[in-house]
Amino acid sequence: MKEEGIIIHTTEQSGMPYAKVIIDIDHEKVDRMFTYKIPESLSDKVQIGSCVTVPFGKGDSLRQAYVAELTDETDFDPARIKEILEIAGGEIPAEVRSLQLAAWMKKRYGSTMINALKTVLPVKKQVKSTVSREVSLLLDDESAKAASREAFLKHQKGKMRAIEALMGGAAVSQSFLTGKLGVSASTLKSLEKQGVVRIDSYETYRTPIHFTKKGSSPLPLTDRQRSIVEDYLSRYDSGEEKKALLLGVTGSGKTEVYMGLIEGMLKRNKQVIMLIPEIALTYQTVRRFYERFGDVIAVMHSRLSAGEKYDQLMGVKEGRVKIMIGPRSALFTPFPDPGLILMDEEHETSYKSENMPRFHAREVAARLCEMTGAGLFLGSATPSVDSFYQAQKGRYLLYRLSERIGERPMPTVSIVDLRKELAEGNFSMFSRRLKKAMDDHLARGQQIMLFLNRRGIAGFVSCKSCGKVLMCPHCDVSLSEHRDRMICHYCGYEAPRVSTCPDCGSSYIYGFKAGTAQVEDKLKKMYPRARILRMDADTTKKKDDHEKILSAFNDGEADILIGTQMIVKGHDFPGVTLVGVLAADLSLFASDYTAPERTFQLLTQAVGRAGRGDMPGEAVIQTYQPEHYAVKLAATQDYEAFYEEEIGDRQLLGFPPACHLLAVLIAGREEEKTDAFARRLAGGIREEKTLPDRFTQMGPAPASIGRIRDLYRRVIYFRSSSLELLMQIKDRMEEYIEEDAAAKDEYLVYFDFDPVSGF
Ligand code: ADP
Ligand code: ZN
Ligand code: ZN
Repeated sequence: MKEEGIIIHTTEQSGMPYAKVIIDIDHEKVDRMFTYKIPESLSDKVQIGSCVTVPFGKGDSLRQAYVAELTDETDFDPARIKEILEIAGGEIPAEVRSLQLAAWMKKRYGSTMINALKTVLPVKKQVKSTVSREVSLLLDDESAKAASREAFLKHQKGKMRAIEALMGGAAVSQSFLTGKLGVSASTLKSLEKQGVVRIDSYETYRTPIHFTKKGSSPLPLTDRQRSIVEDYLSRYDSGEEKKALLLGVTGSGKTEVYMGLIEGMLKRNKQVIMLIPEIALTYQTVRRFYERFGDVIAVMHSRLSAGEKYDQLMGVKEGRVKIMIGPRSALFTPFPDPGLILMDEEHETSYKSENMPRFHAREVAARLCEMTGAGLFLGSATPSVDSFYQAQKGRYLLYRLSERIGERPMPTVSIVDLRKELAEGNFSMFSRRLKKAMDDHLARGQQIMLFLNRRGIAGFVSCKSCGKVLMCPHCDVSLSEHRDRMICHYCGYEAPRVSTCPDCGSSYIYGFKAGTAQVEDKLKKMYPRARILRMDADTTKKKDDHEKILSAFNDGEADILIGTQMIVKGHDFPGVTLVGVLAADLSLFASDYTAPERTFQLLTQAVGRAGRGDMPGEAVIQTYQPEHYAVKLAATQDYEAFYEEEIGDRQLLGFPPACHLLAVLIAGREEEKTDAFARRLAGGIREEKTLPDRFTQMGPAPASIGRIRDLYRRVIYFRSSSLELLMQIKDRMEEYIEEDAAAKDEYLVYFDFDPVSGF
């Protein structure tokens, strides 16, 4: 029985009579495909990704096109379909690869070819380039100091700030001086006239990051770091094994290992894709890479403008860019010869797409590596149970970094039982233990981070007299209180906050208050002199908000940072000595098999934020379930003990990675019809005689949220040790839906393999 390792042939030999082609792959509308007939003579040569010559348009002018899909049916009159003329040379390997990858994703995850293409082919939209100016100092250190002192005495603050900013010897962008430092353009002009500075202007590509210090020399690696880099590179060169997982505790120097590997790849003339979860993709993280590698880096993230994205791609095409840093979508960077895909924080659930195709970046990366011969290097302090399982099975090399750099101790952690706290009469959201710790650390002038699990704090509104909970009229979820309004987090429905219960008329109706804003209010009362920053969805609406809050905290402009998940990911604040987790509660995730894994990860990462500088750290975890293994083992930062517990459970209960799961979500407007359709689909598979019966089927049942946006949701689960079998089930279902024209318009059907969150 074949368990793992799916083989899918995407180089489907034609045999098919028609090819759908993309004429202009550089156009923003890449999803416009044209159908051509494949002549007999070419039928065994045309493949997905082939570059072909076709007659196009009214005058039948000859154009080069890429084959994106092969098919045996078409909606057009076959007599009027033109033929492919020949296979053209001039294939661009990166684009062929993208098309093949799209075809693979369509088949692997279940999606239309168009959606798969939109995922892999980046939007290309040309935008004008801009001019930028860089300022550098022409004075030596001595005279610069004198000039700055003179400016200070003359109260020429702008001049003084400019000179001081430039004293390191590096050039600084003018926009930085006029923006962040508030130096006026006329001040700079006059400094230029006096021969104090030089201003160079040139046309730039809009790199969204601006650093002037480049090529800083690398830290000498520790023995352990060096041996990992060398071992991996030598195995890479021998072609022996190219997939690896690095288990390294927080602060153990994983990033330096990544940089060592990147350097090795650049030496081999290869390009590198460095995946980082969007949430951890900050100035701080990127700066370290930029300082080391300079201009060959480009950064991709969802907040870039179309013009910025275009420039990045041009940089890749022209060979200026050799390292792409970014979230999931950076995977699709069309590098000519990628050598390595690095995935930091590989356990992050954001690596899984929530849109069709619902792909996991780790799986697509592995596929890309097979296609290109590149290596895959995963790193995390808390690897996904899946990856560690693969490593245990010998499918990944396993490296460990078990100690923090510089013998910095791991923080001391205490667990507080919130039930006991209540029983003993403390109704505050801060336990006595945490309160005492905050007093101490504030008194010593040290920084504190307080973390709230966003999903644990739904501020639902309920009546204390009759128990009514106010629900969204369109979804089966409770409304959350936001200041004087109530909103639905799923569909965005909003209503003014009610002051009396709509059922019993009681005025004792209020929100369960434990959101970040409430924490902030409480803290302000407790510590009127403390400077407090808050980072959550409300305070990070604008493009740079994230960055501003983090750098203010980093610069010591605040004593306490309060936040949700956002603040625990990969940020390195040396000043933080105390981390408080306000509610490490699990109960709200309980229906989901990944709940313990995610709780363990969050707590470990949160605890790991403390004591990254010279002062030792401390963490306090408040919880209602102090005896749960995910909480206890996070407190001791013992990943491998956690893994053992967890994999035991998964094997017993038949959850991934011990088994594969396919979740099929069916959504429709009318509850009964949707239910009937789901049952029809499920029944169809049950009665399918051609499928081997090595799978179990559960459902259909209402999804964990039975209704969203007025769509009723049913879910069917399939479980099997064979991924291929689950893919066959998916194919079969797609066929049923395809045959049922009415159903196709009436219901939405999503497939999710090994789901990382419940439907
Ligand atoms: P991780 O990514 O595992 O959390 P980092 O790579 O951020 O760890 O390293 C933690 C800290 O240790 C950083 O401040 C980093 O500059 C420092 N560090 C890492 N490697 C070395 C080294 N070889 N020598 C000195 N300091 C190092
Ligand atoms: Zn009531
Ligand atoms: Zn709603």
